[in-house]
Amino acid sequence: MVSDLDSMFEARCRHCAAPVHDVVIDLGMHPLCESYLSRDQLNRMEPFYPLVVMVCRNCWLVQLEQYVEPGEIFSEYAYFSSYAASWVEHARKYVEGIVRRLELDEHSRVIEIASNDGYLLQHFLPLGIPVLGVEPAANVAGPRRSEASRHSSSSSERIWPSTWRNGGARTS
Ligand SMILES: [Zn+2]
Repeated sequence: MVSDLDSMFEARCRHCAAPVHDVVIDLGMHPLCESYLSRDQLNRMEPFYPLVVMVCRNCWLVQLEQYVEPGEIFSEYAYFSSYAASWVEHARKYVEGIVRRLELDEHSRVIEIASNDGYLLQHFLPLGIPVLGVEPAANVAGPRRSEASRHSSSSSERIWPSTWRNGGARTS
């Protein structure tokens, strides 16, 4: 039997709102990622949150419970994937392989959720393969969006520029 107190703190699925009880992995308590402290913050308390991966038995969405609003995480995200040359090279080789394996061409469409600064999708463009990146961190998606940022979403999701959606050909 579930007490009133239990139901008050019961996690709900972020997709279907069913109660979620099943832990996939518990990684303990952590501060928000990519939130670097400034010198004047070093002697202050830093919030830590449970990094507990759970799964919904109703819709099988694997998820974290939401403790902070997206704006707190993604307003000034400090990680840019393309700063690591070896990672960009890995992405290039991955694109070569996946294009061959899935026989992707100009009639395909590649969508990346959490596309960061375009480190991966940029490699599809010379091949003429349309791409769409969705990135919640405006400051990360911004540098690659350039002038096309006018066409992006103003919500919490940032969508890559229309100029990048179709191998560099402007579509809107
Ligand atoms: Zn669910």
